[in-house]
Amino acid sequence: MPDLSEILFQLGECGELTSLPVTPPIYQTSNFYFPKVSDLRKAFTNEFRTHIYTRGNNPTVEVLRKKLAALAGAEDALVVSSGAAAMSIAVLAQVKTGNHIVCVKNPYSWTEKLSRVILQRFGVETTFVDAGATDAIIASVQPNTTLIILESPNTFTFEVQNLKQIADFAKPKGITTIIDNTYSTPIGQHCIEMGIDIEVHSASKYINGHSDVIAGVVIGSSSKIESIFQSEFMNLGVNISPHDAWLILRGLRTLPVRMRQIGESTQQVIAYLKSAHWVEKVNHPFEGDATKVNLAKSQMQWYGGLFSVYVKSNDIATIEAFCEQLRFFKMAVSWGGHESLVMPACAFYASDYNGLRKYPANLIRFSIGLEDANTLIRDMQQSAVVFVK
Ligand SMILES: *Cc1c(COP(=O)(O)O)cnc(C)c1O
Repeated sequence: MPDLSEILFQLGECGELTSLPVTPPIYQTSNFYFPKVSDLRKAFTNEFRTHIYTRGNNPTVEVLRKKLAALAGAEDALVVSSGAAAMSIAVLAQVKTGNHIVCVKNPYSWTEKLSRVILQRFGVETTFVDAGATDAIIASVQPNTTLIILESPNTFTFEVQNLKQIADFAKPKGITTIIDNTYSTPIGQHCIEMGIDIEVHSASKYINGHSDVIAGVVIGSSSKIESIFQSEFMNLGVNISPHDAWLILRGLRTLPVRMRQIGESTQQVIAYLKSAHWVEKVNHPFEGDATKVNLAKSQMQWYGGLFSVYVKSNDIATIEAFCEQLRFFKMAVSWGGHESLVMPACAFYASDYNGLRKYPANLIRFSIGLEDANTLIRDMQQSAVVFVK
């Protein structure tokens, strides 16, 4: 009889791995063992820097952490289970009862809910300020403000903040600055260099880029990242699986190539939209008001593929017909993947809704993917026949 225990629990396992893989292995393991008590004891003194348990640190995830921190020009990063989790742990680590937050108006919806629903319960108040008005953001700071939350650009109407001006104001006062930098990615907008303390990302968008993983990133100094790790990160248990980290490593390698392609296609699509009879206005960080565009271009390296348009019709049925007739733009939430997407703001309300709206009904958001730009333009043209000239 073969020794089943020997085969199932010993044979061929670590220690015999001598081949060198060109791709980092997936350490699909929940914990790590130690041959000596002294090694285990030493590991316990610094979970942040060692591998004990995958809720904390895992070698595959660590490869991704190092790359993302380096891309942002920062000391360290945490990779977490979603962009929403990234924002939640970064914000929770900065506030306590009685503190005040200044946050841009209409940030990512779950960032707003974190303030309005959760932090409110714990006695932390938030003032929401026009995301295009840097001076007003600064002017809203109170004696008890400990945190400024930015999103530049935001991802529905694309307002831009002057990051250096806000960081220069906040730093001497000891106010922490956090930016949701998902739109630009760590390569496309170097917020840490401009003085922002913490960058938060949804890696579900461009960083992974293939619409097959939900993940988030928190980037900052070693001390800030370690303090988030030791409390919010470990307590809330927002780690990512090693397999998902590996998928993101794969996606990340092509980030610059994808962004170049997406930027070129988006400029072609927007050039068409600006001349199209059915479009009233295009919202993109690099389009419109010259002051905003100059600021955006001074902070951002890439022409992003996410933008919105106001169409010239307010008729919900017409807008619905336009969105439904598109063949290459799938109607869906999220963005930043290989596939082009469309998201009409009218979907947020019942079709006969007549009340106050966060976004006007004629606002439609597009995310440009990796399809050929001419294919996408032709698709918009064939669908736009629903809009009467
Ligand atoms: C998607 C998104 C998030 C949330 O990220 P998830 O990975 O979906 O949790 C946060 N901020 C912005 C700007 C986003 O687009």
